[in-house]
Amino acid sequence: MTVPESVPASNVANVLANLPVMGDLAHQSYPSATLYVVATPIGNVTDISLRALHVLSLVNAVACEDTRNTAQLMTRFGLHQPLIAAHQHNEREVAETLIARLQAGERIALVSDAGTPAVSDPGARIVDAVRAAGLRVLPLPGASAAVTALSASGLVNDQFYFVGFLPAKAKQRENVLQTLRAVTATLVFYEAPHRILDCAAALAAVFEPQRVVVFARELTKMFEEIHRCPLSEAEAWIKADPHREKGEFVVLLAGAPAAEEEQDLEAERILKILLTECSVKQAANLAAQITGRKKNALYDRALQMKAEDGQ
Ligand code: SAM
Repeated sequence: MTVPESVPASNVANVLANLPVMGDLAHQSYPSATLYVVATPIGNVTDISLRALHVLSLVNAVACEDTRNTAQLMTRFGLHQPLIAAHQHNEREVAETLIARLQAGERIALVSDAGTPAVSDPGARIVDAVRAAGLRVLPLPGASAAVTALSASGLVNDQFYFVGFLPAKAKQRENVLQTLRAVTATLVFYEAPHRILDCAAALAAVFEPQRVVVFARELTKMFEEIHRCPLSEAEAWIKADPHREKGEFVVLLAGAPAAEEEQDLEAERILKILLTECSVKQAANLAAQITGRKKNALYDRALQMKAEDGQ
């Protein structure tokens, strides 16, 4: 069966208006004197949630990182609420204004340019101040570049460590990376396009070459690309296409092998060398003495390695 690349647009407005769930949306509670932290799309504008649209349509004002960007987003959905600039340089002062308005009973939304506010984005100071003033903060979940990249990476690990942006200066970047060498969770980095090559080189200089790295580029956009390779091949992959130094990136790096796993790998390395000179029995005995791992397990593994070698 061939599936067409594009499908005819449905009458989205009608479909949405008639969705049984629209009733639920209207009947939920949207308390006043509340700051709504609203996630917005990271590329594909239609990834916004129904609840986000509803809240953006009922708030008294929207505090946003860049009023031009948010005005564009709101206009695409026919929304025209007043906007208040709330960026990293004025967060503290804006927090005061927002608190006064919330205390007067208003509902205010907080958005960033893309994704979830306060995550590698302005907003955390405002949320902190609003909570400290005893006012309610209500989050509306949505896109996050980190979680989107993790979901499609295929990296199997229940834990991840969100690093965000690395320092721009080489020495500071290396210092941070050194502290992460032993972390067993998947490492999650945000990176600007003009630094992606430096980032790949810095990772390759600090971590083992066989670690798997995933580049999640332009997620949810037209030229989305999700590439997995060993770290040793990362720089070559970026250089292979000049477009790869453009666009937005999440970089994921497989975590360090757990200590047990690392010891097994080391025992295997030693076993492999010994097998080139000794019998299976001798190699297993010596490897057990050197590594402290179990002789029987090493003997079985040595037999297996011999068999694989003979194939
Ligand atoms: N608050 C946002 C979130 O929830 O993901 C992140 C904002 S941070 C200022 C911007 C960084 O997020 C970019 O430099 C990039 O690393 C990552 N990012 C944002 N959108 C992306 C996308 N569509 N594809 C890949 N990475 C993205």
